[in-house]
Amino acid sequence: MAYTVHEMFLTVQGEGANLGRVAVFVRFAGCNLWSGREEDRATAVCRFCDTSFVGGVKYASAVELADAVAALFPGEVCRFCVLTGGEPLLQVDALLVAALRSRGFRVAVETNGTQALPCRVDWVCISPKAGARVVLTDADELKLVFPQEGVSPEQFHGFSANHYWLSPMDGPDLAKNIAKTAAYCLAHPEWRLNIQAHKTWGIA
Ligand code: SF4
Repeated sequence: MAYTVHEMFLTVQGEGANLGRVAVFVRFAGCNLWSGREEDRATAVCRFCDTSFVGGVKYASAVELADAVAALFPGEVCRFCVLTGGEPLLQVDALLVAALRSRGFRVAVETNGTQALPCRVDWVCISPKAGARVVLTDADELKLVFPQEGVSPEQFHGFSANHYWLSPMDGPDLAKNIAKTAAYCLAHPEWRLNIQAHKTWGIA
């Protein structure tokens, strides 16, 4: 199977329970909730995306892609990669996960939750979107952008996760949204306030 990767880079995880971990981020091209083209945004299921994921480099095999990931990581210890997108589970398969694991990587996936996992991975972060049915039934972390019209934290009562994050909606109302999110967490302490520290740090 071939894979299309929009971009791939070594960075420091800037949010969630793996905050601060060095990781290779693999951003797969394509998403099932928006085409990635501005002219389609108004009619997309997911309309607040701030990520570029259209087009990219093709890798002909899992081995080729896993070798490229390994080449970016400095050394053999604490190898960690984050498969993200776009929607990574449109492309990630068991062969790729196995190829990464055989190179010593712990494999994390950041998904909108609408696609089944092809196999077990080491870390699953689900970020549900209004109007898109979540088919995954558990995760290491659930990260909900808040406030988000059409979806509320209450809908995830009973969902099995180790960490529940609310991520303030970015954009011109960010300051207000941080205040709203903090207020919600103060009233519902099972949720934690997620801040995208990499934006403050000024790194990708
Ligand atoms: S699901 Fe994620 S990648 Fe897809 S359009 Fe929404 S925010 Fe962007």
